[in-house]
Amino acid sequence: MAFLFLLTMPGNIELLKGDITKLTVDAIVNAANSSLMGGGGVDGAIHRAGGPAILEECRMIVAKQGGCKTGEAVITTGGHLPAKFVIHTVGPVWHGGKNDEQELLAACYQNSLNLALEHKLSSIAFPNISTGVYGYPKKEAADVAITSVSVFLKQHTFISKVYFVCFDEENYQLYQSLIRQ
Ligand code: ADP
Repeated sequence: MAFLFLLTMPGNIELLKGDITKLTVDAIVNAANSSLMGGGGVDGAIHRAGGPAILEECRMIVAKQGGCKTGEAVITTGGHLPAKFVIHTVGPVWHGGKNDEQELLAACYQNSLNLALEHKLSSIAFPNISTGVYGYPKKEAADVAITSVSVFLKQHTFISKVYFVCFDEENYQLYQSLIRQ
């Protein structure tokens, strides 16, 4: 996204390296799958650390609306996590870039932030959605993440802090070079 570099980065974006389940924030975002029934990667880590209450709430959401489509987001409490809520969003699987992957990934960030706003949550932490088993190229995904969040924060000042939490060194380096803190 060429226009990324024309944006001034809002001061309320912060970059962290490590495990998102440890953060004391209003909401952490889960890179879930559409079944909402847990999985590997960050999804597995969140369910392990948060305990069975999160999966139980996910089951109730599935019973009501039948899962979560790619690009959409749903919310549960944080169970035993230090975070109050978990926003579960489903990133796109990378199929080469011509299957609306960019729009769907941007929608994950936008819909997660909209849910945070609806629930009056002002601090939110994102993992690097889709860049694990879903195979989205990390640089392209970081561009989409930073651009979507920056644009949103300029329009919605209620959200006071957004953390990008990188688990792997490659993503951390990429975000560092894009954010220029
Ligand atoms: P996806 O299916 O959306 O690709 P993954 O969970 O496989 O989801 O990977 C998404 C990102 O989450 C990857 O960059 C991975 O390094 C990162 N990740 C894995 N575990 C954690 C964790 N505990 N905290 C933060 N990020 C994590």
